[in-house]
Amino acid sequence: MAETGNEDRADGYPSTLGGPVVDARAAIRKKRDGGKHSADEILALTAGFTRGRIPDYQIAAWLMAVYFQGLDADETLALTQAMLHSGELITLPGLSGPTVDKHSTGGVGDKVSLALAPIVAACGAFVPMISGRGLGHTGGTLDKLESIPGMRVQLPSDEFRKLVRAHGLAFGSQTSDIAPADRLLYALRDVTATVECIPLIVSSILSKKFASGTKRVVFDVKAGRGAFMRSPERARELARQLLEVTRGLGFEATALITNMEQPLGRNVGNALEVAEAIDVLHGGGPDDTRELTLRLAGEMLVLAGLADSVPDGEHKARIAVTAGKAFAKFMEIVEAQGGSPRYLGDPSQLPKTERSHGIVAPRDGYVTSLDAFEVGEIVVHLGGGRLRKDEKVDPAVGIVLLKKVGDRVAAGEPLATIHARDAAQEAIQALTGAYHIGDQPPARASLVLERMQAPSAAV
Ligand code: URA
Repeated sequence: MAETGNEDRADGYPSTLGGPVVDARAAIRKKRDGGKHSADEILALTAGFTRGRIPDYQIAAWLMAVYFQGLDADETLALTQAMLHSGELITLPGLSGPTVDKHSTGGVGDKVSLALAPIVAACGAFVPMISGRGLGHTGGTLDKLESIPGMRVQLPSDEFRKLVRAHGLAFGSQTSDIAPADRLLYALRDVTATVECIPLIVSSILSKKFASGTKRVVFDVKAGRGAFMRSPERARELARQLLEVTRGLGFEATALITNMEQPLGRNVGNALEVAEAIDVLHGGGPDDTRELTLRLAGEMLVLAGLADSVPDGEHKARIAVTAGKAFAKFMEIVEAQGGSPRYLGDPSQLPKTERSHGIVAPRDGYVTSLDAFEVGEIVVHLGGGRLRKDEKVDPAVGIVLLKKVGDRVAAGEPLATIHARDAAQEAIQALTGAYHIGDQPPARASLVLERMQAPSAAV
C-alpha cells in the first residue's frame, strides 16, 4: 500500500486506519451481549489490530463473540471495507476490456481456475486471478500451478499488473501488502476455532478479491461432503452474504451453488489436475469438469458484458477452446510466469510418481457415493497437501478416479489408481472405504444446484 497513516486516502475511504480509537474491552462486551457495532468501531478494531495497538488476545475474544453473536449486514460490510483498505489496492486503469474473476470456496479435484482464466481471457476479458494454496482437505490453485516446473506465482504487484495488461490474465498469490488485516485475522481465527463463521468468511474472501483489481466476481460456492459448507442451506447463506456485501462495496457478482459431494473430475492431486485442465483446454476432459468450466466461463462473460446470456457466453467459451485460443493463452501466461510450456504440450512430462496402486470393486453394483472429503484427506496424507503450515507439497502424488457416482461396476473391476511414493496401504484401505457400492443406480445429482444474483450496482 501507499501507507497513508492519518491522511485521507485517494480512494475516498474515511480517514484512515490510523484513525478512530476504541476501547477494546467495551467492544468485546458489546458484541458478547449481542450489541451492534458502528462502522467506526469496526474500523478502529481492525486498524488497531493490524497496526499492533490492540493485542491478539483481545481480538481473539472479540472473534469468539462474533462467532456466537454474528455480524449483521452493515457490520459485515464495515469489516470488509476495513480489511480491504488495510493494504494495497491493485488498480488496472485504462484496460481495453472489462475485468472479471472467479472465486471458489474450495473443494476436491477443483482445477477449474486453471482452464477457466485462459478461456475467459481468450474471449476478451481481463482476469486478475489471485488464488490460494490448499486449505484443509481441499486443493489450491497455486499449488497446482507450481507443479509446472519453473512456474512462479508469487509475483510482486507491479509484475502482476503488467502481466494482466499484456496477456489478459495472471495467476498470482495474495502478497503481504494485499489485505494484511485478513492475513492476521485469518491466522488468529485458525488457532481460535473461529474460521467457520459466515460473516468472517465473507469479509475474508471479499477483502482479498476486491483488493486485487477486479470489479466483478463469479462465486462458485461448493456444497457437500468435500466443501467447507456441507449443506446447501449453509452454502446458500454464504452465497447470499457474499452477493450482498459485494453489492454494498459497489462491485458486481453472481453466485452458483455447486455440488461437492464427490470430487470434481477424475484427477485429484496437483500435477494430475494440471493434466486434466489441459484436457479441458483441448475440448476434452471429464464431463463434469468441462461442463462446470464452460458454465462458469459463460457466467463470467455475461457479468463482464461480453455475452448476452449464459448460453451465449458458454458458446463463446467453447469456440475459444475449439479454435485453440484458450490453450494458446494458457501456454502464453505459463511461459510469461516462468513455467516451461513443453510440459503443457506433453503433460506426461509433468511430475509423476514411480509407483501406482489400483483399487478394485469389492462387489458388483453401482457406485452410489464417493466421499469427496475422504478423497481430499487421502491426497493430503500422500503429500499432495499440507499437514503443517510450512510443509512443501508433493506435485506428483494423487488419485485417478476411474469410476464415479452412477457408474456400474463388476467385482474386481478397477475403481481408482493411487499415485504414491511408497506402499500406500492406508490410502488403499481409505479409498476403498470412500466408495459405496449398492444394488440400485443412485438418483442423478445436478452439478449446479442453484444460481443466485445480486441486483446490479454501479461499477
Ligand atoms: N477462504 C478465505 O479466504 N477465507 C476464509 O475465511 C475461508 C475460506
